[in-house]
Amino acid sequence: MATVAAFLPKNCEVCTIMSEHLYADVILPLPLGDLFTYRIPPAFQSTIKVGVRVVVQFGARKFYSALVYKLHNNMPGGSFDLKDIDAILDQQPVIAPAQIILWEWMVGYYCCTLGEVYKAALPSALKLESQTKVSFNPNFEIPEDLPGEEEALLLMLRGHGQANIQSINKFLGKKSALPVIKLLLEKNAVLIEEKIEENYAAKLQPFLFLHPKLGTEQAIGEALASLQKAKKQAQLLEFFLSETLYHPEQKAQIAKKELLEKSGISEGVLRALLDKEYLHLQEIEVGRLDLSYEGEQRIFDLSEAQNQALAAIGEATAQAKPVLFHGVTSSGKTEVYIKLIEEQLKQGKQVLYLVPEIGLTTQLINRLKRAFGAQAGIYHSRFNDSERVEIWMNTLHEREQSFRIIVGARSAALLPFRNLGLIIVDEEHENSYKQFDPSPRYNARDVAVVLAQIHRAAVVLGSATPSFESYFNVKTGKYALVELTQRYQNISLPEIRIADVRQATKRKQMKSLLTPDLFESIEKALQNDEQVILFQNRRGFAPYLQCGTCGWIPKCTNCDVSLTYHKNMGAVTCHYCGHTQTMPANCPECHSTEIKTRGFGTEKIEEELSILYPDARIARMDMDSTRGKKAYERLIYQFESKQIDILVGTQMVTKGLDFDHVSVVGILNADQLLNYPDFRAFERSYQLIAQVSGRAGRKNKQGLVIIQTSQPEHPVLLDVVANDFTRLFNIQMNERKMFKYPPYFRLAKVVLKHKSRERLNMGANQLAIRLRKLFGFKVLGPEYPLVSRIQNWYQKEIWIKLERDQKLGHSKQQIMDEIKAVRALPNNSSLLVYADIDPM
Ligand code: ADP
Ligand code: ZN
Ligand code: ZN
Repeated sequence: MATVAAFLPKNCEVCTIMSEHLYADVILPLPLGDLFTYRIPPAFQSTIKVGVRVVVQFGARKFYSALVYKLHNNMPGGSFDLKDIDAILDQQPVIAPAQIILWEWMVGYYCCTLGEVYKAALPSALKLESQTKVSFNPNFEIPEDLPGEEEALLLMLRGHGQANIQSINKFLGKKSALPVIKLLLEKNAVLIEEKIEENYAAKLQPFLFLHPKLGTEQAIGEALASLQKAKKQAQLLEFFLSETLYHPEQKAQIAKKELLEKSGISEGVLRALLDKEYLHLQEIEVGRLDLSYEGEQRIFDLSEAQNQALAAIGEATAQAKPVLFHGVTSSGKTEVYIKLIEEQLKQGKQVLYLVPEIGLTTQLINRLKRAFGAQAGIYHSRFNDSERVEIWMNTLHEREQSFRIIVGARSAALLPFRNLGLIIVDEEHENSYKQFDPSPRYNARDVAVVLAQIHRAAVVLGSATPSFESYFNVKTGKYALVELTQRYQNISLPEIRIADVRQATKRKQMKSLLTPDLFESIEKALQNDEQVILFQNRRGFAPYLQCGTCGWIPKCTNCDVSLTYHKNMGAVTCHYCGHTQTMPANCPECHSTEIKTRGFGTEKIEEELSILYPDARIARMDMDSTRGKKAYERLIYQFESKQIDILVGTQMVTKGLDFDHVSVVGILNADQLLNYPDFRAFERSYQLIAQVSGRAGRKNKQGLVIIQTSQPEHPVLLDVVANDFTRLFNIQMNERKMFKYPPYFRLAKVVLKHKSRERLNMGANQLAIRLRKLFGFKVLGPEYPLVSRIQNWYQKEIWIKLERDQKLGHSKQQIMDEIKAVRALPNNSSLLVYADIDPM
């Protein structure tokens, strides 16, 4: 593997000064395999560099901003119609040299193209295409001295709202207007395509605060009392307090627009509150990167055990080894990370902190801000484009004020780090590190290890429940293992009990969905003013409906799955394509009106609980209940501040939350996890159950976990109860070895899709026959996956088990060649085929 140092001399200023280059190979933001060669006109000779963007024509009329990948003098063969580069967009490269090394590795490893990686890595404002939509930024004031072309374009956009680049070309009478658009982008005068509606790159917005006069709870009480006759005003003030999660020590604020919209109360009422000096209005800056932090900063001293872990990580890193940091939940891994980060910042290095899902990290980000203030920043796919470009440039160039620690989900691994010292991969076992679609189908955890190697940076993969792959890498000596086996301050791990659903049902002891043990434990917790978390990995009310007379099940019209019943919506909906229809009143087959719900999701649990515990405050946390912008944060806050007694949720409640008063955690149906048809099902079940268990009993006392199942003797559950990761690992490893599964073998999953079932079958068989010639019995399939049709595309899969040896790269190439050959056969032109390496 090349490192940055090895890469630098080749394309720094030296080469541009010493010789002229006639040709440039460029990457286009398209899923095309090859590089494309363009001629460099004399006028650009002195300014062109590797890593700058250029405007090129591709196809009859399309223009793209392409990235210069290589400069050379080798005339490509058969190049009669070589085109010239039309313009150069940048003076300095927009990517870091190390990125090219990473991209090339990704292309080889994940069987993708440079264009796909380029597309995935760069924010859209940096990769303009003919179809990219541009609009006027309503917060921009057009200055007097703006060059004519820029001004003309701005006025046009202000009038029309939006235009794509192709029509802008026409408007300006240019072959390509990209250089003009780029200048306007840099002035923040225009906005690009995505998310325009959601987040204007606004600068100032009116916000409402509580007036300083209402600085105490007493003053607020008096204010509310004084509004007894002005009901609407009282309502609005109360709404303000609840919506801003008012807390005496925090400065409560909310955007004026948001408050009025959500409360549905008129501006006149608000004005009255402003006049009375209960609320107070101020314009504040929004939408830009949050580079300020005013709170108190502190970093904790580590415990003895944590210090030892820190030292061990340091030793492994000195030998350039990736570290698997296996620490039980609440052992204080995060505090160790904070110390590691501190060391790096002292050396002026950058830190990448990867998390599985950025939306679920409110608590972590607060902790990092407390430790490092404004140096910690977030890279979020929901940011608008100008913010993403700002972080991009901030990572690439040394700035006076810039983020040193980037917290982000997988795509943050593709940022242009210039001086990376440390990568932390938190919850490394999570499968959300894997990108499913579109290509590149990379696993950010594995990309992180390679990225660290390129930068000679340290890399720490942390988890309470490591992936078997990473643990295997420890066994083979590839990774170093560092462990924390005790919780911080030796708080004991929770007691885990198994509750037999089958037996309780037979004895008619079930209280709705709860076994007697779980029911009573919840009751006791509530009596003691403690909190409860209940986990069920299904959202909605019921996974499916069924006719009680003939057995008919409503299915999606576009996909091969049953529709989930959502009682709140009064509808059934497809979790794959979103198709929604009203709840059927009677069966279309036999006209019976006896339509029954089957199974149970979080919505049903919530409803049943409210009957069983009428006095408890119950809330639900799943994708449906957290759609609003701040809904997730609000739920966490309400649970933290004990406004909720029982929290019911999907996987969301398993993820790294740290609550102080949870004494009981219940897993309502472990069978569903264990019986999932996948070779990783046991590994996943163990991880999920152990993670959600970790939420129990953190600070004050030992917690209790109750796992409901109809397989009480299941070996995985026994290992969970005994907290015996190693046993489970060893048994599973034997099986995987025997059946040639990862980590002993690598998997390549080839997915084929077609709208016609016959065409799909034909293509899949053709490919399978070819692959069997090469790989014999290591080819499985073609078979339909669990869901055989999604959005009217039928799909089949072929799995290939590949030996982990030198031939791996070659084998992948063979697979790609066969895919290409099958796609080229007659009748297969609309067959979609792709390979997914290391599928999850
Ligand atoms: P993990 O990341 O392993 O789940 P955390 O870092 O979240 O564990 O630690 C669990 C709790 O213990 C947190 O509330 C954290 O603030 C606290 N804690 C851990 N280590 C220390 C320390 N050295 N000093 C003070 N508090 C600590
Ligand atoms: Zn029926
Ligand atoms: Zn569907």
